[in-house]
Amino acid sequence: MIHLDHNATTKPCEEAVAAAELAMRECWHNPSSVHRAGQAARQVVERARGQVASLLRVKPRDLTFTSSATEAIDLAHRGAMMLAVPAGKPVILTTAVEHEAVRDICDALGEPVDSGGLGAHVVHIPLAEGGRVDIEAFACLLEQHSPRIGLVSVQWANNETGVVQPVQEIGSLCRARGVLFFCDATQWVGKMPVVLDQPHSPFGAEQIAPPEDAMHIDMLCLSGHKFHGIKGAGALYCDRSVRLKPQILGTQEKGRRGGTEPVPAIAALGAAAEVAQQWLHHPHERDRVAALRDRLEQILLFRVADAHRNGPADPDARLWNTTNIAFPGCEAEALLLQFSERGLAASAGAACSSGSLDPSPVLMAMGVPEVSAHGSIRFSLSRHTAEAEIDEAIEIIVGCVERVRRAGVGAE
Ligand code: PLP
Repeated sequence: MIHLDHNATTKPCEEAVAAAELAMRECWHNPSSVHRAGQAARQVVERARGQVASLLRVKPRDLTFTSSATEAIDLAHRGAMMLAVPAGKPVILTTAVEHEAVRDICDALGEPVDSGGLGAHVVHIPLAEGGRVDIEAFACLLEQHSPRIGLVSVQWANNETGVVQPVQEIGSLCRARGVLFFCDATQWVGKMPVVLDQPHSPFGAEQIAPPEDAMHIDMLCLSGHKFHGIKGAGALYCDRSVRLKPQILGTQEKGRRGGTEPVPAIAALGAAAEVAQQWLHHPHERDRVAALRDRLEQILLFRVADAHRNGPADPDARLWNTTNIAFPGCEAEALLLQFSERGLAASAGAACSSGSLDPSPVLMAMGVPEVSAHGSIRFSLSRHTAEAEIDEAIEIIVGCVERVRRAGVGAE
């Protein structure tokens, strides 16, 4: 199978598999146990925390392990807003192109209290062309709502289109107004460098001057299986000085997230983080895959009539591994099945992949016409993708689009 669905999940790297296996065979004890074996398991967890902290360049103690990015998103949003709403800050500023984990928690928090929500006021930030946050409109919203904003939540890179948000500007504007900023970095971490400014450093700002390109992000989530770890471990970066109401009570993770730590998945996350950090030192490797993505995109746009890209034309405005292409006249699900039969894995928007025929809400929010959204496919590469795979994928895609169009399995 040619896997061009890496934004859904990635193949665990050898180092992650080895770390998980070792943890399962030898460090299977409870990391909270005081005996020596338990403490060996604790060391595995803390080593991994150090490896992830090193990738993000943050302090290990500001990382909370969770089961997934979805759980980290839930903890950040619910945990912050449960304290913000009673303090007179019920507003959440977010976008309509977030991953559904963020869209769903914002919707849930916006429900009235008697329906289990918090009665939060969710405001969508206008998007400029190409699906990027309109920074001027965002600045106006901040000014308009700022004393009542509990949280700003904007992703770093979109999982369906790869569109990169202006996180640096968003963070700076939030910081200037003292507004809490959460960034869903699930698709970014491990693929691109992260430099956070850690404003609440106990060592004092004067001792650790943040680098110029540092991001003003208060909370950020990641997920091991998106960068060659294994499923079952994610993390929330959140400075200790940010008050957050825990959602799963327990003594683990310094009270921020209860439940015995899944040591193998955490060990794999740490190993994957270390490998990713080394890989990020070789930008030419990233350029190699970006060139493959561009080649895939350009050839498809050239060879398939009416095909067009969803998202900005500038390849740097999108994550290097992702392209989202519309094949009008085709139903995405029909295409995906044809691809799959011929050995190619790709995917459509989240709603389509879950069996619904609704077009992707992300593409709709970007202003993609419905007929194009219905026939849109995401292709996502990884650092392991080979040139020969792209060449083979192109032939499969071109053939399948022709077949589906001929058969008339099209979007109305
Ligand atoms: N956020 C983004 C941008 C994602 O792409 C995903 C997964 O596709 C998630 C959050 C959820 O990640 P997880 O599978 O770890 O819950």
